[in-house]
Amino acid sequence: MKIIDVKLQLAEIPLKEPYPSTWNPGNPETKLFVSLAEVITDDGIHGYGAACDSSQLLAGIWESHIKPLLIGRDITEIEAISTGLVNAAQYAYRPWIVEIACWDALGKYCNLPIYKMLGGAQDRVLAYASTGSLKTVDARMEDMERFISEGFHIMKVRAHHDDPREDLEIIGKIVEKAAGRIDIAVDANQAWFFTGKRSVAKWDLKRAIQVARELEEMNVLWLEEPLHQFDYEGLAELRQSTSLNIAGGEINSHLHQFRDFIKYGCYDIYQTDPTFCGGFHIARKIVGMIEAENKLFSPHTWTHGMGLAASLQIAASTSACPFIEYCYDPPYWEYTTRDIMLKEPIKVDADGYITVSQAPGLGVEPDLELLDKYTILRK
Ligand SMILES: [Mg+2]
Repeated sequence: MKIIDVKLQLAEIPLKEPYPSTWNPGNPETKLFVSLAEVITDDGIHGYGAACDSSQLLAGIWESHIKPLLIGRDITEIEAISTGLVNAAQYAYRPWIVEIACWDALGKYCNLPIYKMLGGAQDRVLAYASTGSLKTVDARMEDMERFISEGFHIMKVRAHHDDPREDLEIIGKIVEKAAGRIDIAVDANQAWFFTGKRSVAKWDLKRAIQVARELEEMNVLWLEEPLHQFDYEGLAELRQSTSLNIAGGEINSHLHQFRDFIKYGCYDIYQTDPTFCGGFHIARKIVGMIEAENKLFSPHTWTHGMGLAASLQIAASTSACPFIEYCYDPPYWEYTTRDIMLKEPIKVDADGYITVSQAPGLGVEPDLELLDKYTILRK
């Protein structure tokens, strides 16, 4: 159970066609970034964890901070590893894949999927279809009919036009056409601003309140990331001004940010992502706080198949999670594109659920041959 080595592999997999995501406006994505951490124990176990970045920063502290923290340590010492990674995060962005790889190894050692070690609340989780680009009304209608026929109960669309009235008009038409057959959720992507080639209108509190009130009238299920990720007071005031569910927190990290969200009363649905927030150990503590507030947890998964696998494990560990994001935006973003680094893609059944794998650890196997082909750096 002792860790004898820990490795990092950065891969950049070219996408078949550029993806015009709303979070990187005017600058379509051309690659799928995978940072893969591998933990090896003296039992011959290999644990994996991966994020959706190409973290040269993490590579830069691998010898100085990550290896000394992990090598020689027992794989069960998750609390100490987690604390060490919180410190390492002062030097490098999101080292949490190392902690996720430890859980994968621990699950393989115990012969249990991670969700069963963290609570084991549900063996399947309802998936919602999450789109990530702006589309015409006709393209949205096509998406909606496909999602309904494939068993989805919820569809998420982006509101990211320069004039939110344009978003509201499109969403109004979708809701009307949905006619109760599928619920609609809306993601405003206002929590951070990537300096892309097209600037996007920033919402202030007044604008967020106006949009929220209109979406409330349309019976939209939730409005996601309506304001900046650290605008605790603004989010709290927005939430007080509408009965619409406000969702967010996907890019936030550490216990204290979530403690403050809860203290201010910012969200109804918390979207904590284990690959962004600090790993499984910290995510499970955050889920406890969310549960104590009687709020919902629904993890973000717009990373890739390895990230979805991690979010699925934390989702299935708790009864506070009613549904999980399933990133799926044909024709650009098929689930096979998202899961290209997995030997088997993660699928949704005809009822709209993902059945959690009973394989030990993360429950997925990375396609190491494919990752090797596109690797740009190893540590
Ligand atoms: Mg989102």
